[in-house]
Amino acid sequence: MTHGVMKDILRNLVGKLCSIQHLKTSQDLKPRVLILACVEAGRFLSSCLQSDVHTAVLCSPGNLIPHSKLYGKEVLGSEVASLEWACSQGSLKHVIVCGHSNCQILDVLGRSQMQSASNSRSSPFLSWLTQHGNSTLTRFERYEMDRLQPVTFQGVSPKELWDAYVDPQCYWTDQDQLSQVNVLQQLQNVSSHGFLKPQLKSGALQLHGMWLDSRHLPYLFSKEHQQFVQVKDDNIDSLLK
Ligand SMILES: [Zn+2]
Repeated sequence: MTHGVMKDILRNLVGKLCSIQHLKTSQDLKPRVLILACVEAGRFLSSCLQSDVHTAVLCSPGNLIPHSKLYGKEVLGSEVASLEWACSQGSLKHVIVCGHSNCQILDVLGRSQMQSASNSRSSPFLSWLTQHGNSTLTRFERYEMDRLQPVTFQGVSPKELWDAYVDPQCYWTDQDQLSQVNVLQQLQNVSSHGFLKPQLKSGALQLHGMWLDSRHLPYLFSKEHQQFVQVKDDNIDSLLK
């Protein structure tokens, strides 16, 4: 009885391995799209994309990606290593940072300032979360001072700045606004890594911010509109132009 879930996994894998036998070369398995998602939403995304062998879903708590300034000083975790590996395959065209509504992990981050330092040190999860989520909290605190003003983020160079209005219609909860600010902060963190900069500058690689609401409807951040825009059948082309 306790092996039921494991048996299901193995049976599913046996079926899937048969169905991908048409893939002839390792080139067929190289990722074209990498989605950096929160561990809470990874299962949902994987189930939506299970037939797409060219899309890889990489999960971390709170979809946090360490900034390059920590490289050499702190343990970055495997997220950045996986990102560099995917980039080095020569097939990657899109990187999507994906956050989601009601993120319980970011809720923990929001309350982490009340945690004692000893608590953080005794938990790898809390330690990692506070270390790499601190920039999001700082950003959100500044945003809270005047929520109607845009938040400015940095692109691949210090001169490349872009603005974001987080919730101009005052529609989302504080928790969801934190999650959206976090996606935008992670876009800045991803673009800080030197191994991605040449491709991001040339346009060979595109970086997107995506957010799923409580109904799992997707929103894509639009630099043109300076905010998240709900993705619909009739606006996909204009959002990606
Ligand atoms: Zn989450």
